[in-house]
Amino acid sequence: MIDHLSPSSLDQYLRCGEAWRLDRIEKIKPAKAQPLIVGIAVHEVVEGINRARKAGKAPILAEAASRLAKDTVQGFFVESDIELSEGQMKDEALESCKQKAERLTALFYHDVLPRLGTPTLVEHEIKIEPLDSDLPPITCRIDWAEGDVVFDLKTSSKSWTTDQAAGDEQMTLYYLALMTMGIKARAIKIVTLVDTKKPKAEIIETVRKDEDVFALLEKYRAAWRGIKAGVFMPASYRGWWCGKNCGYVANCRYVNRSK
Ligand code: SF4
Repeated sequence: MIDHLSPSSLDQYLRCGEAWRLDRIEKIKPAKAQPLIVGIAVHEVVEGINRARKAGKAPILAEAASRLAKDTVQGFFVESDIELSEGQMKDEALESCKQKAERLTALFYHDVLPRLGTPTLVEHEIKIEPLDSDLPPITCRIDWAEGDVVFDLKTSSKSWTTDQAAGDEQMTLYYLALMTMGIKARAIKIVTLVDTKKPKAEIIETVRKDEDVFALLEKYRAAWRGIKAGVFMPASYRGWWCGKNCGYVANCRYVNRSK
């Protein structure tokens, strides 16, 4: 029973309704992608650092933070199925993910942390109650905020562009979420730990206005109507995420039949 939507759920539904159905209704869980594991490990360490800072305590030392990130990656490899690239051995993937998590955690610690103030919210979950019967409750989790500035942490192999930041619906939802708490978000800062040959930390600032919220809610409304009516449109086969790159392809009635 689906009783709410989140930004990731909306994004998945709009990208491919069939993948959404397989994931959220059929509960098919594909092997975890390696970048996702690295991202979760780094997020967990950053959350701990921010919780300590919010409580007025000193965060763990940089070495301990990196070790924690590597241990978290190790835990995923023990507990979950991992997506491996062609010919890649699991041990090799584990080592590579550990190194990435260590690199990106150190990058956050040394390059981002000195630029931050004291967080006022950390991993804060907000439930936006429906404004009318055509809308679901919408939930989102804010990585952290400093007063009226929201921060969203990303780990990526590519830099984020200002255009991407300006059009990203998740950031609009953060704006709306803060609004429900009586706070008008002055800015949303996207902190990207970019894992290129020479890793770099980038912070892009984007702003939202009340008008942006209207368009976002219309998307949630359309998606919710579709879900309630059982409309699960498959992705276009031309999309890079469809076919062999999709974790649901083995169960997909559209792509398998068309092969
Ligand atoms: S293979 Fe394509 S159509 Fe099928 S679930 Fe994945 S993205 Fe959707």
